[in-house]
Amino acid sequence: MKVPFLELKSAYEELRGEIDEAIARSVESGWYVGGPELKQFEQAFASYTGASHTVGVANGLDALHLSLRAMNVGPDDEVIVASNSYIATVLAVTMTGATPVLVEPDPNTHNLDPSKVEAAISRRTKVILPTHLYGQPADLDRLLALATQHGLKLLEDAAQAHGATCNGRRVGAHGHAVAWSFYPSKNLGALGDAGAVTTNDGELADRIRTLGNYGSHVRYVNEVQGVNSRLDPLQAAVLNVKLARLDQWNSRRARIASFYLAELADADLVLPAVPSWASPAWHLFVIQSDDRNALQQRLCDRGVQTLIHYPIPPHLQQAYAGWGFGPGSFPVAEQLAERVLSLPIGPHMTDAQVEHVITAVKAAV
Ligand SMILES: *Cc1c(COP(=O)(O)O)cnc(C)c1O
Repeated sequence: MKVPFLELKSAYEELRGEIDEAIARSVESGWYVGGPELKQFEQAFASYTGASHTVGVANGLDALHLSLRAMNVGPDDEVIVASNSYIATVLAVTMTGATPVLVEPDPNTHNLDPSKVEAAISRRTKVILPTHLYGQPADLDRLLALATQHGLKLLEDAAQAHGATCNGRRVGAHGHAVAWSFYPSKNLGALGDAGAVTTNDGELADRIRTLGNYGSHVRYVNEVQGVNSRLDPLQAAVLNVKLARLDQWNSRRARIASFYLAELADADLVLPAVPSWASPAWHLFVIQSDDRNALQQRLCDRGVQTLIHYPIPPHLQQAYAGWGFGPGSFPVAEQLAERVLSLPIGPHMTDAQVEHVITAVKAAV
């Protein structure tokens, strides 16, 4: 049996009728930028996350970057990010000219460790930017308390966390702004690039919308140097259909995760640790192994495709060679990069595929 890491087309096949109809309706409407499908998605996603506002943008990187710009982050500022995050989190900071201050994660939850965050706050810090990595919510209560205590903004990278909850409340309205990606492989994925920011701050939402629209409220009047970053209404039409299925799909992911957790409990692996207050979106199911590369090969031999998220931490990327960090600078992130392995997980995996993964992992460790 073959278990691919991802089967993106299954979601379309499940919803083919509704998606085709939504696309046709969007084309017929005559709105090719902005318009009713986009407005409807922005309202539906705000209501889903519990935030007062959703601003659609072109992708997740722009959601992060425009949020930082709207928070007036610039060259004199520092932004705290996890040393093991995806490159986009760090790129969004350096795009503003600000300095990313890398803080090591808790190796068990893979998320920012609030006690280490506190030690990293300086006079220049403006924003704490946690990533809800792999769909597991970061410790928002403690991070928000720190942000409030030090007069900082909390911006969340929720690109992997659609539907995750923290103390029973969905991610999306805890921090000052929350950045989302609807890249096709995310829990809520479009048929192309798309992104959004959710926030309870109406002025911030307005600034992000203006920045993404050439810095303009009124056509041909430009208040700030903006960019073109808008959520395509065709993608919004698709997202409207898929949003209605998100909770059902996430429940299936959670069921697969609970099988993995129960069945692999005795294997010689480190399984994801979930804090009692968290309910992850299970975007990825990431295990740790001392012998990761050999394990990946043995799983491949048994027909199970796995991926590594992520093999090179940001501080060791050539793109950031100028920082002058090297091996040993962020040992937790470096160790994780050598140990992590993502097993297949997704709403359209069959029970037989899940069982095959479990059997293969047990045989391969
Ligand atoms: C996918 C992702 C992004 C970027 O999203 P794009 O839509 O591809 O720009 C940012 N952060 C994290 C953690 C992601 O997984």
